[in-house]
Amino acid sequence: MHSIRNTTETSCSTGLEHKEMHVSAFMEQEHIWAIGLDPEELKALKGGARSRYVIVEWSLDNLPAQTDLERHDPMLIWVSWRVWQSIFEGSPSSSQPLTQADTPQIALLLEETPQPEQWQRIMDMGFFTVLTGPLNPTTVARTLARAEEVHVLYQDILRMTREISLERELLARKTEHLSFINRFLTRASENLDPVAILTAACEDLSLLVPISLLHGAVWTTVREDSLDARLFLDQHLDEESRASWIEYLLEQTQHISGRQVAGYTIAPMPGHVVPEHSLPTSGQVLVMPLTHGQETFGCIALATDKRFHLGRDQVELLGSAIRHLGLAVKNGMLYSRIKTKADFDGLTRVYNRTFFDEQLRKEVMRHKRYEQPLSLIILDLDHFKQVNDQYGHLMGDAVLKEVGAILQDSIRGTDIAARYGGEEFALVLPQTAQDQAWTLAERIRRRIDRHSFRSGDVKLSLTASLGIATMDAREDMETSELVKQADQALYLAKAGGRNMIFVGRSATGSTLVN
Ligand code: GH3
Ligand code: MG
Ligand code: MG
Repeated sequence: MHSIRNTTETSCSTGLEHKEMHVSAFMEQEHIWAIGLDPEELKALKGGARSRYVIVEWSLDNLPAQTDLERHDPMLIWVSWRVWQSIFEGSPSSSQPLTQADTPQIALLLEETPQPEQWQRIMDMGFFTVLTGPLNPTTVARTLARAEEVHVLYQDILRMTREISLERELLARKTEHLSFINRFLTRASENLDPVAILTAACEDLSLLVPISLLHGAVWTTVREDSLDARLFLDQHLDEESRASWIEYLLEQTQHISGRQVAGYTIAPMPGHVVPEHSLPTSGQVLVMPLTHGQETFGCIALATDKRFHLGRDQVELLGSAIRHLGLAVKNGMLYSRIKTKADFDGLTRVYNRTFFDEQLRKEVMRHKRYEQPLSLIILDLDHFKQVNDQYGHLMGDAVLKEVGAILQDSIRGTDIAARYGGEEFALVLPQTAQDQAWTLAERIRRRIDRHSFRSGDVKLSLTASLGIATMDAREDMETSELVKQADQALYLAKAGGRNMIFVGRSATGSTLVN
C-alpha cells in the first residue's frame, strides 16, 4: 500500500462568471483526478474545468489508493498513456484501485494516434474516452460535460438499484412476517384447549421477542357491571410471584373491560423454566387485548427482560399475531364451555357417566405405568324410590343435587366424583390405598346420614350404601374387574342392611368394614 499524500488539490478559478460561481457555491463539487499530466495538459484541464470541479493531482510516484477513491469518488480521471502504461508495466498492484473501481470514468490522453492493433488493446480496457494530440480547454469542457451526463445517469441508476434492493429487502421481511403469522395461526388453530393455544403461542412468540413469561386472562360477562375471569398462569411461579401476577391480571382485566371482577378461576400453564421471583415488576410487561370482532374478551401479558427494546417492526408483528390469537382463544373458550357441558351432569353438577368411564380408563393405565394404588367407590342411595313416591320427583331431584354437592365437597382436587346412574354415584380416587378410600367412604356415609335434605318446607333424612374396590400398587387388574368388585361390595352392603360400606376383594370375596 502506498503512503498517499495529494500533490495538490486546487479549485480552479480561471475565467469564472459570477452566475456560475454563485451556483457552484451551493453545489457539492465533484472531484476530478489528474494522474501524471504534464504542466501543459494540467493548464488545459484547469481551463476547461473552471471552478466547477475540485482537481486533485497525483504523480507517478504518489499514486492514489483505494481509500482515496472512496473518499473522493472522482467523476473523471485524466491519465496519460505514458503514465497508464508505466502503472501497468511497472507495478500492476498500484493500478488496482483504478482498474477495479466500478464508478470512475477514465479519460486517456494519447500523444499521437495509435496503430490499429494498439487501438484494439486500448478499446478493450474500457476507457470513457481516448483523446489524442495536445489537450485544450474546449476539449476538456466537452469531455467533462459528457462525463457529467454519464455520471448523473450512473448516479440515477445507482439510486434506483439501491431503492430496488431496499424494496426487495422490505418485501423479504414482509414475506418472513407473513410466513411467521401463517405458522403462528396454524399452530394456534391446531388446538382447542386455551392452555395449549397459549403455550404454543408463547413458544412461537419467543422466536420474535425474548419472552420470560406469557400470562393471559379471558372473561365472560356475569352481569352488566361484573364479569368472571379465567387467568392463565405459569404453574412454576413461586407463591409471591403467583399472588402478584393474579393481582396484576385482575387489575388489567378491570382496566381493559371497565368492569368489576366478580370471581376468577386459574388455569395452570405448563410454561418453561421460570426464574425465582418473577414478579410483574421484575421486567417489562407488554399487555395486549384479545379481541374477536368488536368484542374484547381478554388480554395477553408478555414479560420480557427490562433491557430488551422492542422495535417498531416487532410491536407491529406482535400486535398482528395477538389479533389472530384472539380468534383461536375465543374458539377454545367456546369449545371448553361446550365440553364442560358435555362432561358434567346437568342435575348434580358432578361429572357424567361418559366422562367417568373415560377417566377411569385413563387412571387404570396410569396405575399400571406408575404402580400407584387406585381406588373406586360406588355409592347408591338407600330406598330412594320411597323419596320419589312420598315427596315427589322434585324432592328426589333436590336430594340428588345435594348429594352431588356433598361428594364434591368431600374429595381432593385429583379425585373425580361422577353420577354413575339414577341415584348411584362413583368416585375415582387416584393414588389412594384401600384404607384411605375407606376413610373417605366413611366420612361421606356419615355426612349423608346426618344431613337434613330439604326442598321448600320439606325436610328428610337419608342413608347411602357404599362399595369400595382397590388396585394395590403392583396389582394388575382390568378396569371392568375393578368396577365389578365395587359393584359386588355395594350389593353386599345393601344385602347387609344398607347405610354401610363393603370393601371388595378379588380372591376372597368382600369384607364388611362397617
Ligand atoms: P335401594 O336401597 O335398594 O337402592 O332402593 P332404591 O329405592 O334406592 O332403589 P331402586 O333402584 O329401586 O330405585 C332407584 C330410584 O331412583 C328409581 C328412580 O325413581 C329414582 N331415580 C333415578 N334417577 C332419578 C332422578 O334423576 N331423579 C329422581 N327424582 N329420581 C331418580
Ligand atoms: Mg340404584
Ligand atoms: Mg338405591
